[in-house]
Amino acid sequence: MLSPLLLAKKILLDAGQMTDQRALVALIVERIRSALNVDVCSLYLVDANQELVLSATQGLAESAVGNIRMKLGEGLVGTIAKRQHLLNLPFAEQHPNFRYFEESGEERYQGFLGVPMIHHGDVLGVLVVQVKETRRFDEEEEAFLITMGAHLVASQAINLKKTANEALSADQTRRLTGIAGSPGATIAKAWVVRDEIRLEDIAERDGSGLEFEQQRIAEAFENAVQSLDSDDSTHGNTETLSALIDVYKLLLNSPELHQAITEHLAQNVSASTALKRAMQTQIAVFDAMEDPYLKARADDLRVLGVRVYRELQNLEPEVIETDEPIILIGENITVEHFTRIDSRLIAGIVSNQGSKLSHTSVLANALGIPAVVGLAESNLRSLHGLELILDGHRGQVISNPPDTVRAEYQRLINQNKARQADLAHLKLLPAESTDGERVRLYSNTGLLADISPGLERGSEGIGLYRSEIPFMVHNTFPTEEEQVRIYRGVLEAYAPKPVVMRTLDIGGDKALPYFPIKEENPFLGWRGIRFTLDYRNIQLDQIRAMLLANVGNDNLQIMVPMLSHEDELERVHALIDEAVRQLKEEGNPVHKPPVGIMAEVPAVIWMLPRLRDMIDFVSIGSNDLTQYLLAVDRNNPRVAHLYSHFHPAVLCAIRDIVRECRRLNLTVSVCGEMASDPKAVLLLLGMGVRTLSMSAFKLPVIKWLVRRISMQECRAILDTTLELGKESEVQAFLSEKLKDAGYENKFE
Ligand code: PEP
Ligand code: MG
Repeated sequence: MLSPLLLAKKILLDAGQMTDQRALVALIVERIRSALNVDVCSLYLVDANQELVLSATQGLAESAVGNIRMKLGEGLVGTIAKRQHLLNLPFAEQHPNFRYFEESGEERYQGFLGVPMIHHGDVLGVLVVQVKETRRFDEEEEAFLITMGAHLVASQAINLKKTANEALSADQTRRLTGIAGSPGATIAKAWVVRDEIRLEDIAERDGSGLEFEQQRIAEAFENAVQSLDSDDSTHGNTETLSALIDVYKLLLNSPELHQAITEHLAQNVSASTALKRAMQTQIAVFDAMEDPYLKARADDLRVLGVRVYRELQNLEPEVIETDEPIILIGENITVEHFTRIDSRLIAGIVSNQGSKLSHTSVLANALGIPAVVGLAESNLRSLHGLELILDGHRGQVISNPPDTVRAEYQRLINQNKARQADLAHLKLLPAESTDGERVRLYSNTGLLADISPGLERGSEGIGLYRSEIPFMVHNTFPTEEEQVRIYRGVLEAYAPKPVVMRTLDIGGDKALPYFPIKEENPFLGWRGIRFTLDYRNIQLDQIRAMLLANVGNDNLQIMVPMLSHEDELERVHALIDEAVRQLKEEGNPVHKPPVGIMAEVPAVIWMLPRLRDMIDFVSIGSNDLTQYLLAVDRNNPRVAHLYSHFHPAVLCAIRDIVRECRRLNLTVSVCGEMASDPKAVLLLLGMGVRTLSMSAFKLPVIKWLVRRISMQECRAILDTTLELGKESEVQAFLSEKLKDAGYENKFE
């Protein structure tokens, strides 16, 4: 018999690029049946309703696929799933839980072996083989099936989940579970964004005559240039956009490109094929370049290639047209999508990719939009236009809900709105505990769109300005002038309240569309200050822009992300000094602002005394600190359940940073998501943190909490918490304490 590892590998190899999930599961059962030489092999998968559905079979009637279903505990398959233990029965009918399904259309098979397929502790499905004769499967067969199940789960878990959910019909209630990305709930219609076309997906075809194809391509280029001109005028001619459009036009008119297209056309291929091939060759040339600016041109060419292709095919770019709030759904909802539609019309966000702290979630939190990410749903399209319930607290999306469920959600949404309105009166009241300690509540921003929500909710400053966000919504690195305008907008809006601007933190999950960084392990790679110190010019431009924007405002503080080495800080200081010197020389009245660091790489915990004299403040980035302390990628849905800022080690680390900062007389704040998590806030206050920076939308509720509790209580809560061993115990205990404080909100 073939080894299960080899068979699993062979199946994966043969499945290759298979995108059809049904074909994949059909291949699996067919291969197992022939490897074990049995009469039947079937795969039952657990769907979103927690039912086991026959998803593929070799041996039972094909028509039964999707129709034989059972609950956990029901029938032999349900029993295996419930007990998470295999059944090996020589005489299946004699088992008390045996159930015969007429739909199977087959005689009863006697020999039965079923093994559960477990993924992260949950049953994903059951793999069954059956034979006509009355016999018990031997040990070798048993071991084969168990190993096969494990291999399939390891490599195909996501595909298997998708297949199970596809079996549900459109008008049934579907409860899709992903990861809670941003809290809140909403009921609105779904808008599924179109998948972007990729050059590599363009089908290659023969041409319909050289002259005809030449004319088509010439027209398409002409139209593309014209549409660039109209973009230029409709977008209000910002300098960056105009400059970018000029570059685009230069690239479109490049003689090398047209020469290459002509050569391809001469080989009797279609205009689209010639375009694709010529573009791909040019892209490869730019991709191989060392210079980041030239490298970034490869992405420009990708965009342009698709643009010309759209002209060839008369395809319009997607316009998200709605006058009522919608739930934006897509494989990945990116920063760019946020710029295509007025953010007030985004009622919710659902994406297949991402996790709790990916940028989609951080943006959604910043804008107060409920979000479910990491959904792993293959048939997103089927949701388009449906009214959905999105529960960002539980990470669930419900389509076709029963009336009672819809009514209950509507009631909770209304209650939540009333509560928010109730909290509005807190705006002018201080965040002061019942024993008279003052806490500063700042907001986190990155988009100009979330400036006013902070001010409207009484934010006392900006504790984290994520400067990479304006870089992410551009098509090239923004110029110094453009950055000055953006930063001045933020500083002016808040002056004289402090604004902590973090220098560019790209890398990891924060990719610039025009400067892709490909690394095996990006979170441990070229990120934050490591990147910008290597591109001194980019960092210098940014610091100069911040200093210039600060003239007349005088509320800027500069913060360094991802610091892990002492000399990085020395080099940042040298850059700031250099920028101050240059700008003064140029006649600008600038001065060096306070400089601080993010404590987000664990190494910093032990470096603080040595860094003391070089910094004015420390801000704890609990998002990355958690990821690096627990060695859990904050974006990987597979390990999302292991990522928690309530892990006792994370709590001890934060306690130690706060203690050390207080000993060294350094201002310390928290700007990661922990600062807006009411349970975590109890602990942070207990540790002595007096400055919290968070999404503007969380400010009112955190202020409410601070005003309800005493620091003495918080210290006692912290002491008890630190004695608990498990994250789940910590969470349960803190939930109790919140309840005692009168806090109850299903959506927070
Ligand atoms: C953090 O890591 O906690 C943080 C605030 O930064 P970001 O989420 O932008 O990485
Ligand atoms: Mg960070």
